Amino acid sequence: MRIEEDIKLGFKDVLIRPKRSILKSRSEVNLIRSFTFKYSCHQWSGIPIIAANMDTIGTFEMALSLSSFNILTAIHKYYSFDEWKVFINKSTEKTLEHVIVSIGTSDLDFLKIQKILSLSSKLKYICIDVANGYSECFVSFLKKVRDSYPNAIICAGNVVTGEMVEELILSGADIVKVGIGPGSVCTTRVKTGVGYPQLSAIIECADAAHGLNGQIISDGGCIVSGDIAKAFGGGSDFVMLGGMLSGHYECSGKIIKEHSKKFMLFYGMSSSSAMQRYSGQIKGYRASEGKIVKIPFRGNVDITMQDILGGLRSACTYVGAQKLKELTKRTTFIRVNEQENRVFNDFTY
Ligand code: 5GP
Repeated sequence: MRIEEDIKLGFKDVLIRPKRSILKSRSEVNLIRSFTFKYSCHQWSGIPIIAANMDTIGTFEMALSLSSFNILTAIHKYYSFDEWKVFINKSTEKTLEHVIVSIGTSDLDFLKIQKILSLSSKLKYICIDVANGYSECFVSFLKKVRDSYPNAIICAGNVVTGEMVEELILSGADIVKVGIGPGSVCTTRVKTGVGYPQLSAIIECADAAHGLNGQIISDGGCIVSGDIAKAFGGGSDFVMLGGMLSGHYECSGKIIKEHSKKFMLFYGMSSSSAMQRYSGQIKGYRASEGKIVKIPFRGNVDITMQDILGGLRSACTYVGAQKLKELTKRTTFIRVNEQENRVFNDFTY
């Protein structure tokens, strides 16, 4: 047994220190980033935020809405091939360029990705997603997908440590997805005792990825737009959001009405709800590692997204970053024991 003594940090442990700036207004901030990838020959420009590939969040409706902001959606893996065909037929090129196709690591997943990608040359992103990206068979599967798709932009995860980021990039990933346990409906840390505070994971994994010309996605744990700013400030190239985008028309969660108020169900992909829905049962050897929650219904996602982007632009002006790209080098984190003043939080009007 070993103990690492240095304290690892989450978003709640820091604030970003303000810096002198010549920016006059938030409107001068450019949130668009352009990336060239390690393996893929494609270039991508857009706002590097991604809707999570959870079945309630990574929907076709979400992609239609968020692509107008130049934001990506990781489509969940439970749509059928026929549903994909209908979506592709009615989507513009711009929407398809902002879509990531998610898969697991089974033989069926491999067949499915071949069929889906053959439908449109505009589909360029593949996300190979498993809860635990440390397994050998995951790495072999990644190599197989890279061999078959030398030009695709491949994201793979999830991991939280530099050495595994390096292994995934060297095995064919352009982008590594980072996060074990920080998610809003995740109970992995409680069930298993395993995890890594998200901000430290970002800082360490970004360093490892950038050293090999790779990129990272910070996946999970953002509760407010300030956390997204901290994730970018820590060096993340992309930020993936689940809970912050939940409860909207574009989500697929069940709507519940109580005393004339609307709520929507949102659940983790390893929750008992998801397991029952997709495998018809909770296997005897598996514990649920996700929560089911009921959240107030919030209307259209574009209103929420405008608010998120406004917060991000404001963060950039506070540190004098005219482009989102500059946010990392202009970020100094200060460690804190307090965040916001919550005195009137129960009296919100
Ligand atoms: P959020 O933005 O809601 O904090 O985090 C979203 C991320 O949580 C997802 O992209 C995914 O990586 C993770 N996640 C989703 N469902 C589950 C689950 O049931 N268990 C665990 N451990 N993580 C989950």
